[in-house]
Amino acid sequence: MLSNSKIRTVTGDLPAEQLGHIQCHEHIWLRKGPGYELNPALCMDDYNKSLQELKDYRLAGGATIVDAQPGGFGRDAEKLLRLSKDSGVNIVAVTGFHKKAFAEEDLGALTETALVDRFCREITEGMTECGSAKAGMVKAAWDDGGLEDYVNQKLFSAVAATAAQTGAPVLIHTEKDTDLTRMLKLFEGCGVPAHRILICHLDRTIPDPGLHKEVMAAGCYLCYDSVNRLKYVSHAQELALIGKMCEAGLDERIVLSLDTTAARLRSYGAADMGLDYLLKDYKNMLISAGIPEKSIRKMYETNAAQILCLGGK
Ligand SMILES: [Zn+2]
Repeated sequence: MLSNSKIRTVTGDLPAEQLGHIQCHEHIWLRKGPGYELNPALCMDDYNKSLQELKDYRLAGGATIVDAQPGGFGRDAEKLLRLSKDSGVNIVAVTGFHKKAFAEEDLGALTETALVDRFCREITEGMTECGSAKAGMVKAAWDDGGLEDYVNQKLFSAVAATAAQTGAPVLIHTEKDTDLTRMLKLFEGCGVPAHRILICHLDRTIPDPGLHKEVMAAGCYLCYDSVNRLKYVSHAQELALIGKMCEAGLDERIVLSLDTTAARLRSYGAADMGLDYLLKDYKNMLISAGIPEKSIRKMYETNAAQILCLGGK
């Protein structure tokens, strides 16, 4: 099924089968910028600490991560490339856009054509700040005003056009007011099928099992990335949600991740977790909660390899 499927990492394209344990929404490098002004945990810019975190991850069995920070929002592709080479962990970088509150530059001022050119170039040629590394995913973030807002609509359309042209998978940042139906219609209208879309954070933004089932039945993948973010979702709630989805036969469409900040990485001072939390702690919790090992393997490895494929089915 996955033969000839390639995943685009900062060090080059890799066969999907070789990626091992994958976490699809993490942050291992984040320049100090507007995000830091809002929350000091939104900055990870110490090379040795980020490297140590990745080395620990690899030691625990981790093989690949997606660093979910797009260019112009705190990404540093040159650092991601060096970190990947020095740690041996594959890193998938993203192009596209995040919420305006995190923007270092005003992408909204560009025309849709200029945005598509930029996003496509980052995937096919190289990233703006480091031409020797390519992005492997394109991100869109739901923001105030939704798709009624002209700028938001333009940015989303540019992401959809990029995915349609390059075959790159789409990563979506959701908020509590995300209109998933309208958003998926926009992608469909641009020729991007649901199975190329990974929707993040729904376990904390809209934790409605009925809605999740609907979206996955349409073909989307969901990234449950609020694991051990107890101020948003308790362990009991997260495990119950995962359990419900597995019982409904939807373990083929879920990936698990941590959406790390500096406050959730051991090398930056977190007391109770690091990037290796899913491997070292959470796996046993899933097993104790009755989640079949077969389902865990899908959520930790196989599903991510499918969604991350360029032009994957
Ligand atoms: Zn994130």
